[in-house]
Amino acid sequence: MSKIDWIEQEIAALKEQGLFTHIRTIESPMGAWIQVDGKRVLNFCANNYLGLANHPRLVQAAKDAIDRYGVGPGAVRTIAGTMSLHVELEKRLAAFKKVEDVVTFQSGFNANLATIPALVGREDVIFSDRLNHASIIDGCRLSRARIVAYEHNDPDDLRRQIAEVKASGEYRRMLIVSDGVFSMDGDIAPLPALYEIAQEHDILLMVDDAHGEGVLGEGGRGIVDHFGLHGKVDIEIGTMSKAFGVVGGIVAGKKTIIDWVRQRGRPFLFSSAMTVPDAAACLAAVDVLEESTELVDRLWRNANYFKREMKALGFDIGHSETPIVPVMLGEAPLAQRFSRELFEAGVFAMAIGYPTVPQGKARIRVMNTAAHSQDDLDFGLEAFARVGRALGVIS
Ligand SMILES: *Cc1c(COP(=O)(O)O)cnc(C)c1O
Repeated sequence: MSKIDWIEQEIAALKEQGLFTHIRTIESPMGAWIQVDGKRVLNFCANNYLGLANHPRLVQAAKDAIDRYGVGPGAVRTIAGTMSLHVELEKRLAAFKKVEDVVTFQSGFNANLATIPALVGREDVIFSDRLNHASIIDGCRLSRARIVAYEHNDPDDLRRQIAEVKASGEYRRMLIVSDGVFSMDGDIAPLPALYEIAQEHDILLMVDDAHGEGVLGEGGRGIVDHFGLHGKVDIEIGTMSKAFGVVGGIVAGKKTIIDWVRQRGRPFLFSSAMTVPDAAACLAAVDVLEESTELVDRLWRNANYFKREMKALGFDIGHSETPIVPVMLGEAPLAQRFSRELFEAGVFAMAIGYPTVPQGKARIRVMNTAAHSQDDLDFGLEAFARVGRALGVIS
């Protein structure tokens, strides 16, 4: 018996159940077409909503910044890691998002791990949407606050849960937290209703807009802009790893809150800053977004076209309100087979099954982007039609 036998057994069990993740290698820049494990395929998997991951302006900005500042920050933000690039990026993001202040992190995941424990602790209660992202769940756990999950996108259930907690009287502060866009179904949180409830009970309100940043609202300003709730949502978490095409996390809101996160956010205090090329490329992404809504407009045109045509073909595409398109297939083996056959047909689209989504709700998830041309979309639709008919999903 070795002390890692149990890991071998766990891995074998995953493989037996078809749940072991095979990690594909991308051998080209991230674009509409990519080379995957030696094969050129149409890319329907990336969160690169605006095609910025390989945008010439972002690439150039990163190169120029490296020539001026080198590559690494060399320290955590509070010691010597805050460079003028970070300060400028935070100012520009605050203006873009129309908030008082922004602090950036190495990733969106870290932004959640930093922010939630900075705001609530042992004596507090967090109301968290049942389908919230893993990084929110982990941030909640780290805070040691009591976590009360409310039914997905259900303000009535949230009200009931708050009433119960209030009746018990055992709490100091409270926080409501929700994803803005839910990445498996593409539905949007009912933020106006959440805001109303937060107001009524004087509870802090936090939304994680990772899939709404650069996608929702005017010119991609996010879910708060989409609903016109500027100044009303206390904390917005964002990421620069999806539509922004780079990597990095955002916490946006009132100056007092952001100042506090700079004092108490542990991944800010104890993990080094965003690198030079990342910060510079993100600054260029803000430039691109502020100059024109062209990419955001094209993203939505592409998504609307793709969804309309998929429905016309007879696919069940759920109830997405965003460029995320879940193609509902039911059982996981069918979704996996569908994904494999699409790949053979030159289309890279991932099958998603339990436990990421509920049993019997396996699907292929298509990520639309502004990088796709009309021909690309038609190529993808043609492949879906062929595989769908061959597997008896559509007639
Ligand atoms: C992707 C995602 C994150 C993580 O963002 P990274 O910048 O990739 O770490 C956090 N929250 C939500 C809701 C996400 O979808």
